[in-house]
Amino acid sequence: MQAPFRSLRILFVAAEMAPLVKVGGLADVVAALPQALVERGHEVRVLLPAYGGHMTRGATRLTSLGEGQASLAELRRPDLPCPVWLFESPVFAGRGHHPYNQPDGRAWPNDATAFGEFGRVAAGIAAGTLLSDWHPDIVHCHDWHAGLAPVWMGLEPTSAASVFTIHNLAFAGRFHPRVLAELGLPQSLNHPDLLEFHGDVAFIKGGLSCADEVTTVSPRYAQEILTPEFGNGFEGLLRHRQEHLTGILNGIDTRLWNPARDPLIEHAFDAADLTGKSRERLRLLRRWGVTARKDEAVLGWVGRLTRQKGADLLLEALPELLQRPLRLVVLGSGEPELKRAVAAAAARWPERFMVDSRFDESLAHGIYAGADMLAMPSRFEPCGLSQLYAMRYGTVPVTTAVGGLADTVLDADAIADAIADAIADADPLACSEATGFLMAEATAEDFVETVDRALRWFHDQHRWQALMRSAMGRQLDWSGAVRAYEQVYERALAGRSPPGVGPAAMRAP
Ligand code: ADP
Repeated sequence: MQAPFRSLRILFVAAEMAPLVKVGGLADVVAALPQALVERGHEVRVLLPAYGGHMTRGATRLTSLGEGQASLAELRRPDLPCPVWLFESPVFAGRGHHPYNQPDGRAWPNDATAFGEFGRVAAGIAAGTLLSDWHPDIVHCHDWHAGLAPVWMGLEPTSAASVFTIHNLAFAGRFHPRVLAELGLPQSLNHPDLLEFHGDVAFIKGGLSCADEVTTVSPRYAQEILTPEFGNGFEGLLRHRQEHLTGILNGIDTRLWNPARDPLIEHAFDAADLTGKSRERLRLLRRWGVTARKDEAVLGWVGRLTRQKGADLLLEALPELLQRPLRLVVLGSGEPELKRAVAAAAARWPERFMVDSRFDESLAHGIYAGADMLAMPSRFEPCGLSQLYAMRYGTVPVTTAVGGLADTVLDADAIADAIADAIADADPLACSEATGFLMAEATAEDFVETVDRALRWFHDQHRWQALMRSAMGRQLDWSGAVRAYEQVYERALAGRSPPGVGPAAMRAP
């Protein structure tokens, strides 16, 4: 393995990190990428808000901040890849049960102050004003919650470079411009080249316009977000910054997500022996007191019930799908209307459409292990981790050809056709590259058609098992991505603004 160009000190700044606090894929990336960087010889710290006392248990106080009501504490644990620095502050009080939503589902009203302060702490660490003995070379910020870190970094001298990663452009962190004054930031930031966005300020623009380098989580999404269809109004700015924008496909932690040694499932299995998977299928269905015939496929869903994920398309397709030999198992919560509709469908078809609306890591593993197929009819998908976990557990994704899904799922029929065209007497089992089924459009009709294609393969168990093994054999770890991030860090350091001057964009107005 080639050594990195030099060992760097990297500060991750993010709102989630598994297993401390997880809402979605961001948490997994903020755990697994530091692990991969540490293994390459870099020194990494993760800065995370402390959403409740449960997170700081076992942590050591590093320093108090401001008037003394806030502090930084360090958490070191064997299940964490590196020391985690927790920002404890009254601004995050009450968020113990969920980092972003109040108990009634609405966003917390002080998000701007809370995450604005969070960004300021990151910049203070970068500048060396908060901690004297550890200065990062790179501040790697994730999503809008960390969007103000590069902005604050531009306002005080630091030699660190900043990198901003877009995990989902649909979440922009939009607030009334008055928050600038509340945070003590200059009004000049309320400018179209900086934070201004349709009369608001958008924290994500801090990252997009002020970070030295910007990345997103798949090459396809990096292209898509340059267009009005996927750019959410940021496409102009992103095109302007295109030279500094890189798409790097997420990996997964293949040690944690490993059907051969996963403590969250009961029956271990691997590509050589899939017996455990059949047992996991039985175990999964037993939760709802049902069984499935051999010719019935178990179609799983693990994810938010949102329009982004196509939960409405699943519901629209449901009456058709239930004409097929299928059992559906859904784990997920989300938009209230979709949640209600999913619950109503579960009540209507109790033995065919089973739903659990909790956030349950163990059931998630159980579905990846026990289902035959994973439904993921997303309208857009920056990368998507669920399809990668599914593939690792031999569960074949049925999904849309967008973003990271298009970059990771290779359609079985398309590959079988290509092989048949190239080699006249090709083995019909040859599908060594295939990993799933892709639909061109996110519509209920296309979804049903694609499930039908998957079922045709499923009903030929020889072909199906070859497909499962091909999906399981795909390399999904972080080894490629970590080198790509090293190159981005290198570019950020080479091109960073001189200390104290701030990113080029901040000098514009
Ligand atoms: P997102 O857009 O939500 O980040 P990803 O596919 O990138 O989507 O990642 C989703 C992550 O959250 C995966 O690790 C998935 O297993 C997990 N997940 C989603 N919903 C649930 C749930 N209800 N219970 C447990 N894990 C969940």
